[in-house]
Amino acid sequence: MEKVRITFLGGLGDIGRNCAVIETLNQILILDCGQLFPDEYMPGANSVLPDLPYLLDRKEKIVGCITTHAHEDHIGALPYLLEHIELPIYGSSFTLGMIRNRLEERQLLNRCELIEVSDGEKIAIGDFPCEFLPVTHSVPAGLISAIETPQGLIVHSSDFKLDLNPVDGRLTDLNRIAELSRDPGIRLLLCDSTNSDMPGSTISESDIAISLDKAFKSNESNRIIAACFASHVHRVEQIATTAINAGRKISTLGLSMKKNLSLARQLGILEIKEEHLVDIDDTRDYPPHEICIISTGTQAEPRSALAMAATGQSRWISIGAQDSVILSSRAIPGNEERVGKMINALMKRGADVLHSDHLGLHTSGHGKQEELQSLHQASNPDWFVPVHGEYRHLVAHKDLAVEIGMPAERILLATDGDQIVLTDDGMELIEKVTSGGYPFVQGRILEYEHQIFSDRRILGKEGFVIATVQIAKKDNEILGDPQIVSRGWVSAHTANRLEEEIAIAVKKGVQKTLLMEDATDQDLEQRVRRITGSLVNELTGRRPMIIPIVRKV
Ligand SMILES: [Zn+2]
Ligand SMILES: [Zn+2]
Repeated sequence: MEKVRITFLGGLGDIGRNCAVIETLNQILILDCGQLFPDEYMPGANSVLPDLPYLLDRKEKIVGCITTHAHEDHIGALPYLLEHIELPIYGSSFTLGMIRNRLEERQLLNRCELIEVSDGEKIAIGDFPCEFLPVTHSVPAGLISAIETPQGLIVHSSDFKLDLNPVDGRLTDLNRIAELSRDPGIRLLLCDSTNSDMPGSTISESDIAISLDKAFKSNESNRIIAACFASHVHRVEQIATTAINAGRKISTLGLSMKKNLSLARQLGILEIKEEHLVDIDDTRDYPPHEICIISTGTQAEPRSALAMAATGQSRWISIGAQDSVILSSRAIPGNEERVGKMINALMKRGADVLHSDHLGLHTSGHGKQEELQSLHQASNPDWFVPVHGEYRHLVAHKDLAVEIGMPAERILLATDGDQIVLTDDGMELIEKVTSGGYPFVQGRILEYEHQIFSDRRILGKEGFVIATVQIAKKDNEILGDPQIVSRGWVSAHTANRLEEEIAIAVKKGVQKTLLMEDATDQDLEQRVRRITGSLVNELTGRRPMIIPIVRKV
């Protein structure tokens, strides 16, 4: 039968920018197209995208994109893809609702057809017959995808946990997975690895209600500000229910919370009666114990509603001793320090802060080892590729699969840029078939050159020194003294003192180079850079960026 290739354009090696490409000779089906929020190693970038050039080079083959659920790491890069390619997007009504909001903001809705699929639905996308099954996660309406290809059935788990008591009662359809494993059999499983190194299983989302109830009771005279992810509609629902039961009105803080709440109510996923809602401006008319504000900003993102309130910059609320702030979330690795600072700032304003670490106010949306094991057992695949994780998670997931009886040679450890080729004879891993360069967004510009970040790190830590030398073309002599300008290197006062010394040394060095007959402009620049750099280092023990400029006039 025809070969099938799966190319991973993101999501294997980092948690974020998930994107896989399932490809036959004539067609491509995209599985998710997410973004990654950059860490401190990419200062100034707003977003990191999957390796989109692979798709742009093959755009005439693309038949559509499946979106497994509404998290940013699965849908966040769609606007960038749609700027270059028109394509149909498939997903549940909630996922598509979130995508629609995003595309409307960017006036890109006309670039795609949004095609809703429901639980259990079978639909052909191009030549790929697909079936979508319900799965539990920390956002409503996630879907497992079962995709028929010329090389057998590929099952993608989506992000998942096996919540036996989900808030909406919508259970993961493991039975159907088991049926598919018997007939026609699952050739390849692609499965979420996020919590693969954690033993046991995650607690049910419904259990959070008990902790929330306790937190509300022990803070009954205060205004309560409860923060969670805006897309986590089931958490919002549990907070809202607890608040209503405690006789409080509900208000939202943060634009995405307001939008998502309204979308979820429209779709009937979230039921909050109008009489329980109050505009944030009107919360002032109520005593603190009658109000619960549901807010964004759990990761202390600089412009987020809660971070602004913590530093006294919110135009909506001011935090004080009348407030109890509940963080119904966990700081994502990398954000801990920022979240810690926000908690300090909230406390300094007099608020009580309750966070999830010790109070059971949060549970993960990703299954731990026992849950992964159940999915492996139900699907019993011929081959397995761990996806959605840092490399250590992918390795832990492989080890787990081996432990429960899967032959190690049937598990392929792929990372971003790798391709799996499915043939009648088996499966093969081809490393790094794509350029491997992740595009990133800064401001309005899409960029590819990552060198800029090492420049920025040097500039951020050490500053820069510019040394300008002017040389007369007519007699090849230096004109005047070299100009030394610096910023961020040492204080202005110290720089003034040192710049003269550097100028003298540069002048001497350049004069020597000019005596060499075959000295090129490049030789001169290099000389200026070397003299300036070593003297700067000798005088201050620092290594700023040195920018030599040689002008012939
Ligand atoms: Zn994810
Ligand atoms: Zn997710």
